[in-house]
Amino acid sequence: MYYISTRGKSNQIESSQAILKGLADDGGLFIPNEIPRLNLEFVKKLLPLNYQERAVEILEKFLTDYTKEELIDCVKKAYNTEKFDTEKIAPVANLNQFHVLELWHGATSAFKDMALQLLPQLLQKALNKQNETNDIYILVATSGDTGKAALAGFADVAQTKMMVFFPNEGVSQMQQLQMTTQTGKNVKVVAVQGNFDDTQNGVKKIFADDAIKKILAEKNNKLSSANSINWGRLVPQIVYYFSAYADLVNEEKISFGDEINFTVPTGNFGDILAGFYAKQMGLPIDKLICASNQNNILTDFLRTGYYDKHREFFKSISPSMDILISSNVERLLYHLTGDAYRVAMFMNSLQTEGFYDAGIGMIQRLQKFFWADFASEEETLATIKKVYDQENYVIDPHTAVAWCVAEKYQKRSRDNKPMVIVSTASPYKFNESVLKALGEKISSDCFENLQTLAEKNKVAPPKNLKNLQDAEILHKTICEKENMATEVLNFA
Ligand SMILES: *Cc1c(COP(=O)(O)O)cnc(C)c1O
Repeated sequence: MYYISTRGKSNQIESSQAILKGLADDGGLFIPNEIPRLNLEFVKKLLPLNYQERAVEILEKFLTDYTKEELIDCVKKAYNTEKFDTEKIAPVANLNQFHVLELWHGATSAFKDMALQLLPQLLQKALNKQNETNDIYILVATSGDTGKAALAGFADVAQTKMMVFFPNEGVSQMQQLQMTTQTGKNVKVVAVQGNFDDTQNGVKKIFADDAIKKILAEKNNKLSSANSINWGRLVPQIVYYFSAYADLVNEEKISFGDEINFTVPTGNFGDILAGFYAKQMGLPIDKLICASNQNNILTDFLRTGYYDKHREFFKSISPSMDILISSNVERLLYHLTGDAYRVAMFMNSLQTEGFYDAGIGMIQRLQKFFWADFASEEETLATIKKVYDQENYVIDPHTAVAWCVAEKYQKRSRDNKPMVIVSTASPYKFNESVLKALGEKISSDCFENLQTLAEKNKVAPPKNLKNLQDAEILHKTICEKENMATEVLNFA
């Protein structure tokens, strides 16, 4: 298998090169030249396997230039009980109304761990394969969640270093502690005097600055990013769709071969696109339900084929889904058209005009796979409360968006196939919104809130959050937004 650009103007390369490069030279995203078609026998083979073993079976279909031994090594380092608080890695909770795929048992209690634990391992092996002798120097601007997940994945991974910038006073108390207590010789965290836009613009400027890149090159450093367009972040996410299916069969919740549906809380379209790949590979999925919050650009797109970013941007209680440009839609457009020229035109129109129209023919193709709706803030809070009362189970606001939309889907379609809600964050990561939904008192001390929620929930709070209370602050640097480049150079 080889990798091509969605915009058609880059050479075919191997998966390890695609993972090193991140973005194709023509500005497109890397995709496999074909999606492997598997049969039900393949799924049957997964049933007795554990998560790590299932991961190797699926990864080796896509990462064909890695040896099986290499993949086994990567998977062992990424998905183990030092990093995850359950041997199952991505367990399914079988509730009365829906099944819930819990993707938040990793190092930072959010679903980004599923990909950001494996990406550094794949990247490190890729350096070796491509005889790359430079260190990969990863810069991240974060509004909270991605920064910590990236730090936890890259800490002490050889031949890599990472600097994370966050807006001082722009992240929650808990998020700030998560980052500033991060251990690892190769990582540094810096607070920027400014807001998230200042922080992100600062990082973009550094990426575009040839003089800085030249100095870094002299010190054997190559700049890179860990954002969600890298194929190495997407491919790990295919695994849990298969794994969830296998678990449901093993637990006799479905019969082998039955079709099921997934509802996915969606932002950058990476998570749900992995479900699309799983379906295309032959996993018995009927519909993928795309759940958005009030920033419902994807709802409109999947209903009309018209993508229009001219709209108000809302700051919601499910912040990881607050987006206007959903990058991975580009991969979907390629797979549905097979036409890189058209994809390049759509993306060009999005950049220059702020919209594109995928056309009538596309709507039908989109709707064969997807159904879309959104949940308002009020509906999200009400869903958290309802699920708690009904199931004695606490969900976070992102998961609540998915739950609410799954209900809308079943009501409107009358399709009652087994439904899996993809749960992307531990409720303890979003204590305040969850406590508000449950009608509890909210304190200004985040650890007190953790305790209050723990008393309502039967599940103990994740250790990685609880332990922050006594963790040493290791990163105290605060810089002016004009001085971010200096920080980057000093750490090289
Ligand atoms: C990133 C994230 C999402 C959205 O996932 P995409 O792959 O960007 O669609 C949903 N929920 C949480 C908690 C996230 O961190």
